Amino acid sequence: MWVQIPPSAHMTKQSNIDPRDSGAEMKKRYVSPTTQIAMKGQRRDFISSTIRIIPLGGLGEVGRNMTLFEIEGKILICDMGLRMPGEDMPGIDYIVPNISCLKDKKKNILGVVFTHGHYDHIGAVPYLIDKIWHPGLEMHASPLTRGIILKRQEDFPNLPPLNVNEVKNGSKINMGPFKIEFFRQNHNIPDNLGLFIETPVGNILHTSDFKFDPTPINDLPTDFQKLKMLADRKILLLLSDSTGAEEENHSLSEKTIEKNLEEIFKKVEGRIIAATFASLINRIQQMIALSENYGRKVVIEGYSMKTNVEISRALGYIKSKKGTIIKAKDIQKYPDSKITILCTGAQGEGSAVLMRIATKEHPFIRLKKGDNIILSSSVIPGNERTVQNLKDDILRQGCRVFHYKMMDIHAGGHAQKEELKEMIKIIRPKFFIPIHGQYSMLAAHAEIAKEVGIPEENVVVAENGQIINLNPQKISVEKSRVPSNYVMVDGLGIGDVGEIVLRDRQMLARDGMFVIVVAVDKQTGKVKGSPDIISRGFVYLRESRELLKDTRKRVIEIVHRATGSGGAVNWSYVKDEIRNKIGQFFYTRTQRRPMILPVVIEV
Ligand SMILES: [Zn+2]
Repeated sequence: MWVQIPPSAHMTKQSNIDPRDSGAEMKKRYVSPTTQIAMKGQRRDFISSTIRIIPLGGLGEVGRNMTLFEIEGKILICDMGLRMPGEDMPGIDYIVPNISCLKDKKKNILGVVFTHGHYDHIGAVPYLIDKIWHPGLEMHASPLTRGIILKRQEDFPNLPPLNVNEVKNGSKINMGPFKIEFFRQNHNIPDNLGLFIETPVGNILHTSDFKFDPTPINDLPTDFQKLKMLADRKILLLLSDSTGAEEENHSLSEKTIEKNLEEIFKKVEGRIIAATFASLINRIQQMIALSENYGRKVVIEGYSMKTNVEISRALGYIKSKKGTIIKAKDIQKYPDSKITILCTGAQGEGSAVLMRIATKEHPFIRLKKGDNIILSSSVIPGNERTVQNLKDDILRQGCRVFHYKMMDIHAGGHAQKEELKEMIKIIRPKFFIPIHGQYSMLAAHAEIAKEVGIPEENVVVAENGQIINLNPQKISVEKSRVPSNYVMVDGLGIGDVGEIVLRDRQMLARDGMFVIVVAVDKQTGKVKGSPDIISRGFVYLRESRELLKDTRKRVIEIVHRATGSGGAVNWSYVKDEIRNKIGQFFYTRTQRRPMILPVVIEV
């Protein structure tokens, strides 16, 4: 965490990271940003010497990446991603960033820049865009990212079509106080762009998700020369991808992954069913190329994967020979050894194709002995159990499973320790904020930064909702926060399922529910007949006669005690009493806590 230190100490530490940051040289660069602007003769309107950085998602979690940069009230947004719900969030489709801090600030939002086409960077657009959209809002993305955003928008016919400007490696755009230059970065999707953001306060470099890949697929190797040139323009703050920060050494090249995948293609006879993320364009390309080399036809299953392949093929990022890709219903026309099925569902997502195949719910495809299932994606924290069950299910049906732990057939698209060190060494930033990842990943990345010489007080491990103030001299975190809690998407509802609804669902899932309907005579205050009981997921009623008999008896007692005195009856008190007393009674008898819903009707 950031600790304020006296300016003198600060200066000394400063010189540790970059010898050029001392004495006159440093004064020239950092002391007076206002003078600098005057000298440059541009962006006179923005003389602020502080930039506010507010991460709304992606810090302390994998997914939902979204960051705000604000200078004098003018806001630049980087990415609008979603994340998948955890195993403890029944019924939730996605989680998106909470953008309530942007309410009433619509007009101040200059634009959104997108780094790449993964859903954890663009997936929240359809859910959030209408809340920030205004005619002047600019949106910028690389061709593939733009294609995926626009295609996805089509799935929401109630939303207006978006106007997204295309940017490429080397593109420069100006938005108020922000002057942004895009530069290419290797990842596992083509067209990934890092951001060099020049501001009156200083230069910021945002790595996007990245890895240094000497032999990438569909892409050129990292342009180290370019990174060095950007670094030479002085980076005040580096924001760098932390997803791989807990992994030793260097990430695998896409080429190595292809080699390992080829080993599978070489030795197996039966069908290959490969599951991965719909937006892992490189992996899809590899599977198609290998299938072609080994004479296999390819079936692509899963709506999102199909549309992504369509976009990528149209833009030339996925190449396939005519006739390679066939329809699922034509599978029977080919021998098993000539079939590859590419599908979604490597995380064990309930609605994804692989799960539907494994549970025999898919209309055309059933697993059979001899099938080879490749799970080509690492497991997102929180999904371990689901993936384990999926694997067991597949194995039970006589199939083989290849997953990333057995072979390097996934390896993330994220830089690991050595690459992260290298990035910091090249960029030589004054300040550093690790982004993208669980808290432990951010913390590991902060350690790496310290190891390569960034003073501890210049490193901020921030969390979603925190407000980070940055000026040329120091970085600090405000005490107050903006709301950053989960906004859950369930069907058509965005944000209407909150913590309380979720807690109810968890409770229902855990111990079920118990409804007690009591009819009370208005005149006498006596319970009429026997209370009705409806229960789901708590106990099997037919085998619990004794328990139900005792419960009814207790409910009647509670009502009679309340109505006994003859005065006015506080029915909400009576309901609370039933809920509490019966709750305790159930707990002592069953050690379970079902949700109890008392209904009292005066008749
Ligand atoms: Zn990514």
